[in-house]
Amino acid sequence: MSLRLYNTLTHAVAPFVPIVDGEVRMYVCGLTPSAEAHLGHARSFLFFDVLRRYLAHPRNGYHVTYVQNVTDIDDRSIAAAQNEGASVEEIVAKYYGRFKDGMRALGVREPDLEPHATQHIDAIVDMIAELVATGHAYVTGDGVYYAVKSFPRYGELSHRNVDELLVGARIAENEQKNDPLDFALWKLAKPGEPQWPSPWGSGRPGWHIECSAMSRELLGVPFDIHGGGYDLIFPHHENEIAQSEALMPPHSHLANVWMHGGLLNFDGRKMSKSLGNFEPLGVLLGRHDPLAIRLLFLQTGYRKPMNFTEDAISAANSAVEKLRRAYDALAKVSGTGGDELTATIIAAAARFFDTLDEDMNTAGAVGVLFDVANTVPKIVAADAGAAAAAARALFEDGLGVLGAGDILTRTVAVAAAADVDPVKIERLRTALADAIAFNGESPAGVVERVIDARNAARKARDFALADRLRNALAAEGIVLTDGKDGSTTWTAGGA
Ligand SMILES: [Zn+2]
Repeated sequence: MSLRLYNTLTHAVAPFVPIVDGEVRMYVCGLTPSAEAHLGHARSFLFFDVLRRYLAHPRNGYHVTYVQNVTDIDDRSIAAAQNEGASVEEIVAKYYGRFKDGMRALGVREPDLEPHATQHIDAIVDMIAELVATGHAYVTGDGVYYAVKSFPRYGELSHRNVDELLVGARIAENEQKNDPLDFALWKLAKPGEPQWPSPWGSGRPGWHIECSAMSRELLGVPFDIHGGGYDLIFPHHENEIAQSEALMPPHSHLANVWMHGGLLNFDGRKMSKSLGNFEPLGVLLGRHDPLAIRLLFLQTGYRKPMNFTEDAISAANSAVEKLRRAYDALAKVSGTGGDELTATIIAAAARFFDTLDEDMNTAGAVGVLFDVANTVPKIVAADAGAAAAAARALFEDGLGVLGAGDILTRTVAVAAAADVDPVKIERLRTALADAIAFNGESPAGVVERVIDARNAARKARDFALADRLRNALAAEGIVLTDGKDGSTTWTAGGA
């Protein structure tokens, strides 16, 4: 099998064929940093991170160029700057920095290129000038607008026609445009607003033109994959297509495959603060295990809407533990038994990748890893060394391509896990409830969560928190030993 992807443009799953052999160029619409990012933003970036990893994995072997832009000038960031008494640059630096910390915690790799709109004003102005020259845009008293009726294919991506779209469309009082569907390419500056020179007067670019200009400049057109959240299909991606394709040869497309990640909802009935509705991403990730969140996202089809609930995060915490324990248990198996078990694992490995090939079915692929975890007791009982080695390799390769390899390596739990006194664990849980959102872990899992949080605090040089966590464990007789390889072991002896 080979990789097949769902294309929003055609409404169909089809084999992925790159434009240039061995190379994939992809563009994903990034953040407009004007407020705290939340978990909903993270979901779609996390999916495209997995897609990118799989495209580059030896199974596909593509050289991937991944571009994700930053909309660093926008009505919203200008408003935030006024509200917070800061400059737009300060607002962008603050919120974008926090967003990137969150992405790192979730294991999302850095983009290859991260263009900021304000650093590509020349390319943007050039493209607007081309659209004006070819009759696709016009100049008014407040800026430059795209003439939607000049592009007959408008609506192709969202599968709607212009007449449908016109229903309910209005021209706002402060906009001098000819048609309600037309949209701004360049906005003339009001006094005190950030501005750049242009042939039409000083101002700033509209949001949509930034992506068209920067994708053309950095990747060239057409490119292979254009991605973003489901909410960007209309109008943002429809407008990108109108701008870019108006300047391309007839019948050519800006991108061969358009992919959209489903939206994230929070459990409306509970609305508990610990779930993180409206909670800043960084705060949420400090209290929930980022790896459990990553696994939870992977366990849901990327195109489906997803509900983030207490039950779901609780199940994901148990799932992380289950995979880790299965992997640890396999390390002790070195016998020569169980040939048929080896065959089972080899078949599972093939199934893992075949499942991923079918439009990035990460939920099915993770399911295969749990099938393997369920086979581990048999492998241990048969002392089947070859099956154990194959299963460990599948866990490493499989979780690696999903960006969740840390599940296997971050903490080595040993000895006496079964002997942890539940009363001590309950005291530990209560003492640290303000620092860590425990949820569904086994007693040993609670200890590991604290150890992980302590190691994360040390990495972040928050030594006060690290000491507090270590002392809380020590108070319950749990002793840590830090290994030279960065792992931490623990014993639950003592009083
Ligand atoms: Zn975009």
